[in-house]
Amino acid sequence: MVSVADKLGELLTRLNACTGLTFSPNSSLHTIVAGINTFILDNHVRKWSERAGRPLGPPETTPGPCIGHDCVNFAIVYPRCTECCRRLYKVDVGTSTISGAGLGLFAAKTFKSGDYVCDYSYEMTKSSNLEGTKMGYYWDTS
Ligand SMILES: [Zn+2]
Repeated sequence: MVSVADKLGELLTRLNACTGLTFSPNSSLHTIVAGINTFILDNHVRKWSERAGRPLGPPETTPGPCIGHDCVNFAIVYPRCTECCRRLYKVDVGTSTISGAGLGLFAAKTFKSGDYVCDYSYEMTKSSNLEGTKMGYYWDTS
């Protein structure tokens, strides 16, 4: 028969191996949950920074739970997670196809000319100062 303490120790060993964290059976539940949340958040920020091609920080990132109704995801680049953005606004955020532009917004459905897509509060800049692009504008988030 496996004791609860043995099972907890086994789970923490597996968790530590997965995350690189160092929980012990003496760690408080608060410490473990906070550590897991930080690990998840750091991974999301790293993933989005890789997509952007540079480190992202506030206000570009809004780390925290998605504001979508009953959504369990973290939201990093926008208060809604990528799944909620796709479902509600029919857009995806991903690596821009414009060289040096970082993150880009992509239509996840066919929009007609003049259709409202979403609000965005960054300054738009002519792309003539970007190399190798034929696009007209990008949002300068620097
Ligand atoms: Zn969501």
